[in-house]
Amino acid sequence: MEKKDNKKGVKLPVAIYYVAILLVIFLIWLWLVPSAGKPTYKEITYKEFLTMIENGEVEKVELSSTVITIQPKDLDKSKPVYYRTGMLMLEDTNLLQLMNEKGIDYWSPIQTSNFWLSLLQLFVMLAIGVVGMFIIMRIFSRRMDAGVMSFGKNTSKIVGEKSTGKTFEDVAGQDEAKQQLREIVDFLENPGKYTDIGAKLPKGALLVGPPGTGKTLLAKAVAGEAKVPFFSLSGSEFVEMFVGVGASRVRDLFKQAVEHAPCIVFIDEIDAIGKTRDTVFGGNDEREQTLNQLLAEMDGFDSSKGVVILAATNRPEVLDKALLRPGRFDRRIIVDLPDLEGRKAILKVHAKGVKMDGDIDYDAVALATAGASGADLENIINEAAIRSVRAGRTDVSQKELLDAVEAVIAGEEKKSTVLTEQEKKTVSYHETGHALVSALLTHTEPVSKITIIPRTSGALGYTMQTPKEEKHLMSKKEALDEITVFAGGRASEELVFGEITTGASNDIEKATQIAREMVTRFGMSDKIGFVCIDSRQSVYLGDGVTSDCSDETAREVDSEIRAIVSECYGKAKRILEENRDILDSLAAILIEKENISGKEFAEILKTKGIDLEPGKTGA
Ligand code: ADP
Ligand code: MG
Ligand code: ZN
Repeated sequence: MEKKDNKKGVKLPVAIYYVAILLVIFLIWLWLVPSAGKPTYKEITYKEFLTMIENGEVEKVELSSTVITIQPKDLDKSKPVYYRTGMLMLEDTNLLQLMNEKGIDYWSPIQTSNFWLSLLQLFVMLAIGVVGMFIIMRIFSRRMDAGVMSFGKNTSKIVGEKSTGKTFEDVAGQDEAKQQLREIVDFLENPGKYTDIGAKLPKGALLVGPPGTGKTLLAKAVAGEAKVPFFSLSGSEFVEMFVGVGASRVRDLFKQAVEHAPCIVFIDEIDAIGKTRDTVFGGNDEREQTLNQLLAEMDGFDSSKGVVILAATNRPEVLDKALLRPGRFDRRIIVDLPDLEGRKAILKVHAKGVKMDGDIDYDAVALATAGASGADLENIINEAAIRSVRAGRTDVSQKELLDAVEAVIAGEEKKSTVLTEQEKKTVSYHETGHALVSALLTHTEPVSKITIIPRTSGALGYTMQTPKEEKHLMSKKEALDEITVFAGGRASEELVFGEITTGASNDIEKATQIAREMVTRFGMSDKIGFVCIDSRQSVYLGDGVTSDCSDETAREVDSEIRAIVSECYGKAKRILEENRDILDSLAAILIEKENISGKEFAEILKTKGIDLEPGKTGA
């Protein structure tokens, strides 16, 4: 179907417009055809017509080519009734003579006298038709969404923000990323400084990092700092049902950007279009065309105009090499998960918008949230604020913050799950097992909480460990001790009840994972040696492992993993056996109180003659 641009841009309210126009036209139409004093016609036979003439009842006769309209003498002006009959096919040559004799006036209408009215009629019909079609198309294209009616370019989605309102102040931590981006800001502010020397300006930078670390935020901050417009499009928005739409959007995007230079063009989630083109499964035409168009546009535009392209992805490894070559996204800016200081800063940034209690220990919260992204931390602050409202407070205290961390990490408390006495006992011994093993090993992190209150995550209880300081490396001893702590729960159950439960499944999974990584990635197994067997496909999403080894090695790896885990399990059991009395009294306290804090835990151990090192008494 032939169609002009932008039909899809017709929104629903506009459709209502058309309906209104239609209505108005209809009313005009009604008005044009006067209804008052409208004559009615009564059909009679030709014979009756002749009789009327004979009887002298006829005043006037209108003769058209097919119809004879008769005006009777006794015509009521307010309610006129005319008579009508067909023109007799056989030529009645007597009719005119008869009418002349009777002195009846007769006439025939001139056909062209209605010309303007007919033209108007035609016009109205046309208008109704066109409006009707508009509405039908509108409904159609809505149903098809990305669909049939939206060939050609579509500019409706590319909306430039005049100002993002974000600055580097809003981005906490990420100092290296900010440092690199500052150069781009400078370039946008005074491009002359660079072009005078003859320096080629950077065309684009790729922000790379795990989800929620602030890539989108950073891109907006660059635009905000440089006070330039921000054009953003998400990679998935380029790719539509029809081949060619994505490419035309790319063209549009660049056209607009050049018109508004200096500005920032931001392509979020670029991996949606930038996936490497030669896949084994055959290509995706639409994506390839879009990517090709993007490459062509990036090469084509003159960077001295002051257009900088930023893109973000958390899967850099799948990107097409052509995107990464110099002159395109040649700069790669890593936006990684925040470290301790970074987390502290992010918490503070988001705490600004929330009423906080005077003495909040941000260090403690940051320590308890290793591995959390900026988005997670934002979520924690908000969660704490909601909890405070629920508790009837007017500000957020440390307690709510730590509760929020716990809820995010372990899930909410689930009061509706009621454990039987025996289950409670089992869970208590299980958790106490973890805690005690952890306390008695050297290379472990301090216990900060033991609880047997079920959580919405499905855990019936858990032992929380909070590091005293941020760690970046893990030694072999630490890895082994961690596996031993995971084994502590099951070991305690077996030791005390001589029976094991399903409660340890998660522990087993984690212990096995650590052992597998020790063997296949970190070269910590003497038998396998300094060899990489598993490599991660996605650095930032942490999923997708590819193994590369012979069947024989795979078998060896499996037996090595089993050896490590079972040795740790034996060690855990031995530790608990030797300290059975402490285990019993701890479990008894836990059954009674349901929660033991890190401090209480250290105190109880002290009464049993075990003094924890300063670094191992949990908060
Ligand atoms: P990404 O694009 O990397 O997935 P976003 O930029 O969308 O992540 O970040 C999501 C939210 O998390 C942001 O809106 C922001 O509120 C918060 N956030 C993430 N990182 C930071 C940071 N470094 N400083 C402040 N807030 C952050
Ligand atoms: Mg993002
Ligand atoms: Zn456990």
